[in-house]
Amino acid sequence: VRDETGLLLVGAGHAHLHVVAHAAELRAAGYRVRLLAPRWFDYSGVASATATGALPADAGRIDVRALAAGHGVELVEDTLVGIDTVARVATTADGAALAYDLVSLNVGSVAATHDIEVDDEVVRVKPLAGLGALATRLAAHPGATVTVVGGGSSGLELAAHLAVTRGVTRVRLVEAGPVLGPDLPGGARRSVTRLLARRGVEVHLGTPVRRLAGDHLLLGDGRRLDHDLAVLATGLVASPLLARLGLGDADGVPVTATLQHPDHPEMLAAGDCAHFLPQPLARIGVHGVRQGPVLLAGLLARAHGEPAPSYTPQRRALAVLDLGAGIGLAVRGRWWWRGRTAFLLKRRIDRRWLRRYRSPTPSGAA
Ligand SMILES: Cc1cc2nc3c(=O)[nH]c(=O)nc-3n(C[C@H](O)[C@H](O)[C@H](O)COP(=O)(O)OP(=O)(O)OC[C@H]3O[C@@H](n4cnc5c(N)ncnc54)[C@H](O)[C@@H]3O)c2cc1C
Repeated sequence: VRDETGLLLVGAGHAHLHVVAHAAELRAAGYRVRLLAPRWFDYSGVASATATGALPADAGRIDVRALAAGHGVELVEDTLVGIDTVARVATTADGAALAYDLVSLNVGSVAATHDIEVDDEVVRVKPLAGLGALATRLAAHPGATVTVVGGGSSGLELAAHLAVTRGVTRVRLVEAGPVLGPDLPGGARRSVTRLLARRGVEVHLGTPVRRLAGDHLLLGDGRRLDHDLAVLATGLVASPLLARLGLGDADGVPVTATLQHPDHPEMLAAGDCAHFLPQPLARIGVHGVRQGPVLLAGLLARAHGEPAPSYTPQRRALAVLDLGAGIGLAVRGRWWWRGRTAFLLKRRIDRRWLRRYRSPTPSGAA
């Protein structure tokens, strides 16, 4: 009888959802697969729509418990709070100790605060469980003035959505830099800026925020702007838990092209919580999605004593922003398209991806 290799997957992020859906292959290769994660996964592709009430709150939700059960994976419905990399034991919030031979981390990111002093009442774009509170807060504040801080992709999406959300009177978008959407092609940037202007969004560029409170913000120059609700969308950093546990820093857990920690070969990481050493990667879901098959193939290769494959990021991935009211902005490299078809394309991609993990098949063929 062959000894089993204990594989502990921490976090049900995009990459791990793929691995869980293929657990049968891992079992056949000699792994005992356990997943440490909360029951629900929220998908960011529809997050702006669900957070503003344009879609029902559960439109992007995946039942991780059902997925794990459907693929014979033991789920520990909890979160990671500690890890002993020498003894190879992970600790959960409830105090359980989980021994492992191999551990893989896919715990995502949180909203970056940079050097802004941010109060607890402020809604953060990530984790998405926190962003979900926005819809409830909006319902409790009819006629609200909402400030979104940060003019990157998620800030643009949220400001554009809020501007067409019933019950929101005024939307303010505050950005420290000189332009909105600095990563977008120039034409796309101008197109979104025009759309926001048409929807009445008040845009403040070159305006660094010093303090962001539930009912007001203070600018670097001392000015105060009042609001009823505020959303922090100033970029994403790896979950701070990783730095606390000594596994990495705000960039994440360092990994080589095979998604392995360079000093701890028994540790892997994927998605937003990984710091991909070969080249900088944007914190976008597409990397987690595409790293899933690489992670799985690496685990299978390891079991068969073969070299693990490398992750090669696509040079120009397609990204589609949901700008609300049925309008999307599709971008790939310097190419871009704004309109209804971009929105429909996004919804089709989202639906197809969600369907994979909402109807688990015991064969593991996701
Ligand atoms: C508003 C918004 C819209 C976005 N839209 C897009 C988009 O359209 N396309 C795109 O590519 N990217 C988009 N992004 C970026 C995208 O959200 C992230 O890049 C993506 O979610 C990262 O995937 P991940 O698998 O690394 O982590 P996540 O999707 O964050 O998954 C991590 C999982 O780990 C769990 N977890 C966290 N901590 C622990 C713990 N201690 N123990 C156990 N489990 C834990 C979490 O509950 C979560 O389910 C958007 C982001 C935002 C904020």
